[in-house]
Amino acid sequence: QELIRKLEDTIENIPDFPIPGIQFKDISPVFLDSKLYEEVIADLAAVSKGKVDAVCGIESRGYLFGIAIAVALEIPFILIRKAGKLPPPVISEQYDLEYGSAVIETRQGQIRPGQRILIHDDLLATGGTTEAAAKLVEKQGATVAQFSFLIGLKDLKGEEKLKKFNAEVYHILEY
Ligand code: 5GP
Repeated sequence: QELIRKLEDTIENIPDFPIPGIQFKDISPVFLDSKLYEEVIADLAAVSKGKVDAVCGIESRGYLFGIAIAVALEIPFILIRKAGKLPPPVISEQYDLEYGSAVIETRQGQIRPGQRILIHDDLLATGGTTEAAAKLVEKQGATVAQFSFLIGLKDLKGEEKLKKFNAEVYHILEY
């Protein structure tokens, strides 16, 4: 609808960034338009209202929208960060990248057993990062109730990687 059209007009496609062959979607122009930002948050909050107990945002663009979703829903927001940034004690999850591997972490005790969690990030590509975040949530005895993104890249089949969590996957627009 209207929001999808506005976002399509606003998000910039940058060819060959950060490496040749990648079409990078730059969401930063959304923050130049506070009205559009509010509409994005209202849309994402409406999708999760009553269905989740806390929001986990993935570093770093997942924070830009995730914390506002949590505030709108009056529920906790939890940072999922790259290894080494959060003070101890932390819970960690390792995952594979195209070359090598990476680790993400949360502060121990911030995700509570039994909570229904929304995992939010700006963009779903291969799903590797989001899958690791979901495992991190489950490690702490909580369940992933939803995944939300501004953008889903359908050619990269990220949604298939998330199927095993039996959670709703929502994105405002898809390329
Ligand atoms: P995945 O693990 O699904 O392959 O990659 C998703 C992660 O990479 C997200 O955290 C997302 O922020 C980042 N990412 C990958 N490609 C893009 C892109 O084209 N635009 C933006 N904004 N983020 C991207």
